[in-house]
This record gives sequence, structure tokens and C-alpha cells, in this order.
Amino acid sequence: MTRRRWIADSRTETTATLTGDQAEHLARVLRAQPGQIFDVVADGFLHRAEVLSANEREVVFALHEELEADSALPVHLLMAVFKFDHMEWGIEKATELGAARLTPVIARRTEKHLAQAAAKRVERWRRIAREAAQQSRRSDMPEMDDPVVLKTALGMVNAEIRLLLAETEQEISLRSELEDQRVSERAAVALAIGPEGGWAPEEMALFREQGWKQVTLGPRILRAETAAIAGLAVCAAMLERAGNR
Ligand code: SAH
Repeated sequence: MTRRRWIADSRTETTATLTGDQAEHLARVLRAQPGQIFDVVADGFLHRAEVLSANEREVVFALHEELEADSALPVHLLMAVFKFDHMEWGIEKATELGAARLTPVIARRTEKHLAQAAAKRVERWRRIAREAAQQSRRSDMPEMDDPVVLKTALGMVNAEIRLLLAETEQEISLRSELEDQRVSERAAVALAIGPEGGWAPEEMALFREQGWKQVTLGPRILRAETAAIAGLAVCAAMLERAGNR
């Protein structure tokens, strides 16, 4: 069985430290003792690590050999902010499925109170992503950006393949588009998911200007979090076929 992985809060050249909830859990619930061996991710590198000291505030490890880590799915997900409970669920699942980066987008039609509260939520979203990364034995955490407006978000996208998931698209499916683009090994894909009220016309214009292509996940209207999960699953299957593991 894959051992649970811990993601260090800080590291030196030879040690890594966990603090906060993780330290408390390790020390109090799992009763970590000096000498015990765990897998610890420090600065994105996975190591075998030995507990040097453990208390509820801080667990310090000596970093031993580096282990081979599986890489994230090279998918950058742009998600228009939606109802927080659904959004949190979406973040958790997107992390499990391997998304490399998540950018919450304040869309023109994102509800006012959500838009206002989003900036304060991002720490919680990062915590959810971290927990999901550990739970799913990822060796890294998805990068979670601060919420930004669409124009800023589009400027943050490096992926060459840029796909706008759109329930209004009738012809081109995500799968057929990835097939046509012959996604190569390590191809990076950006997926954008819209708000409940849809993108405003000027936002659609921004997507067009920046070469985004609309694709569908099928004839039914999915909730945003379902679209995220389905979109990532299709990407995982297609990129895996291209040898991207
Ligand atoms: N405005 C819509 C609902 C939007 S659903 C309505 O008529 O009620 C939220 C987001 O999920 C959409 O912006 C889109 O990105 C994604 N989505 C939903 N269904 C989809 C589908 N069948 N194919 C692709 N994307 C879809």
C-alpha cells in the first residue's frame, strides 16, 4: 500500500517541518515517535523521512533519500467562483484527480456576495487542496491562485491547449478535441468552467481573442463541479494514452 504522504510546511537542506493541524494529527492521533519513517514532500520533492522530534505544534523530520514522485496531471483549471460548499467539493475532487493548478475566477456574473467573500476563502481552499493531495497520495499540491477577474486569469495561463467547457457547444467534444490536437507527452491543457449565469459577452470575447476553443462534455447541463470532474477525467484518460503519466 502506498504510505500516506505529508507535505512539509518548511524545510532546510536536511530537515523538514510540519506544523498546525498536520503536526497535531501526527503527534496526537498517530502518536509519531522519533525514529519512525514517513514519506514527506518537501518543496515538491518526495523523500523518505525519519521523525526527529514530535509534539502537537511541530514535527521535525530528517530527510533521507528522495523517492520517485508521480507528476500531476498537466491541467490548469480555471473555475468561475460558485457556491462555496460546491466549490470546496470541486476543489477536493479536482485535486484527487491530479489537477496541477486551480485559478478561481471572479466572473462578471459571479454572485456579488460570493465575489466579495472569495478572497478570504482562498486559505481554506488551499487547506482543502492540501488535505486532498495527501489523502490521494499526491506528491505535490495543486497550485491554488488567489481569485482574480477573467482577464487576469487568462494572462496567467501558459498551457497551449486552451479549452472552454461550454454546454452550448453542440459539435466538438472535449475528447475529440484532445484527439485532434494529438496531445503529446507533457502537453499542458487549460480548462475553463463558467459561472451559473454564464459568461458575459465581453468575457466570451476575451476567450476568443486568446485562442480558447469551446468544447462540450455532452448534451446535459452539468453543475460546475461535475463539469470539473468530468473534464479532468477525460483529460486524464487522453493524456495517459499519450504516455503522459
Ligand atoms: N448557464 C447554464 C449553467 C452553467 S453550468 C444554465 O443554462 O443553467 C456551469 C458550467 O459548467 C458551464 O459554464 C460550463 O463551463 C460547464 N458545463 C456544464 N454543462 C456542460 C456541458 N454539457 N459541457 C461542457 N461544459 C459544461
